[in-house]
Amino acid sequence: MNTFIYKCTICCREYKRDEVRYICPVCAMDYRPGMPLKGVLTAEFDYGYIKRKFSRKNPDFSLFSAVEKKFYPNFPVGNTPIIKNSALSSLLHVENVLVKYEGLNPSGSLKDRASLLVVAESIRLNEERIVCASTGNAASALAAVCASAGKKAVIFVPKNAPRAKLVQIVLYGAKIILVDGSYDDAFAMSLRFTEKKGGLNRNTAYHPLTIEGKKTVSLEIFYQMNFNTPDAILVPVGDGVIISGVYKGFYDLFMSGLIKRMPVLISVQAEGSNAINRFIKTNKYSDMENPRTIADSISVSTPSNAYMAKKAVENTGGFVVDVSDHEILNAQRILASTTGIFAEPAASAPLAGAIKISKNLKKYKTILLLITGNGLKDIDTPLRTIRLPKPVPKDWI
Ligand SMILES: *Cc1c(COP(=O)(O)O)cnc(C)c1O
Ligand SMILES: [Zn+2]
Repeated sequence: MNTFIYKCTICCREYKRDEVRYICPVCAMDYRPGMPLKGVLTAEFDYGYIKRKFSRKNPDFSLFSAVEKKFYPNFPVGNTPIIKNSALSSLLHVENVLVKYEGLNPSGSLKDRASLLVVAESIRLNEERIVCASTGNAASALAAVCASAGKKAVIFVPKNAPRAKLVQIVLYGAKIILVDGSYDDAFAMSLRFTEKKGGLNRNTAYHPLTIEGKKTVSLEIFYQMNFNTPDAILVPVGDGVIISGVYKGFYDLFMSGLIKRMPVLISVQAEGSNAINRFIKTNKYSDMENPRTIADSISVSTPSNAYMAKKAVENTGGFVVDVSDHEILNAQRILASTTGIFAEPAASAPLAGAIKISKNLKKYKTILLLITGNGLKDIDTPLRTIRLPKPVPKDWI
């Protein structure tokens, strides 16, 4: 395996692999539950080594992995398809519109990527119990991967999470604690739980390997596009870990000399939950008090990875767009009816964003919409806006 060190994204202190587990201990002293995490760590690899070892004839992406392959659970995460769609090209006036459909992961969302790597790490560390707070998808992903690996998952979710996600968690056999509060309350509770009772905490961004797991989507895009990248990628953003992971994947490729420039990253948030987009626009951070959006997966008051997400957008020359719930539901319908892909509301936000700013997208030859989760995870939300037909008598025709 390649070697790496952890580097703090705030103070730039460096740590050896097993010297730290979660966030930078120095920056963590400033951290209180209820604010964006300070001191999120990233894995810095030996990029010279990757440069020497990586071959396009026989590409070995384990060079980019922070956990040895032998610890990976045997579970089919990733390798999701990229689909080129001409109807969306005409709609958006962009030559190539690509859709990467992450809803085809085993538990139905991109979160499986982060959970796979953290569970691999728990196998390396001989930790039997993995703990996580989630709006629903990270939890169902962790429960699924833990089931496949014979590990125990303990999960804190807000009581109003979509039912399909709760059903998944229960059937996968995880211990589920339904919190009478918000996602942010569940996040704080799960940290108290691991402090008191131990186990490995998988909270997004708090465990650095959540970012490393999510970055694999970018390595795949690079491979599937024949060692190329899109010009711009639209990403739905809640805590800001997916967009940071997407950034990290391309950063690793760039540092290894495998790509010449980074794709522009466009952060799409719901108007009612846009703490990161406001932070990027104004340079001033403030919580989203009482986040309100039908897109539960991107509904968050205090995004844990706000600082890194901001850098991901700024360092790629990217920008932000806020979309309304109405625009999200509309995009969900357009995506389903033009591509055959039924995405959950949060995962439909990238198309809503693309429609909203299509004038600014014309300059790109190829854009990619990151469709992060499966529509079957939440049918109640679209059901509010459509009417199912009444049955006809059986002699109707
Ligand atoms: C978690 C999630 C997001 C947002 O990811 P963050 O890392 O919280 O920004 C977007 N879409 C889906 C389907 C998700 O599950
Ligand atoms: Zn630090």
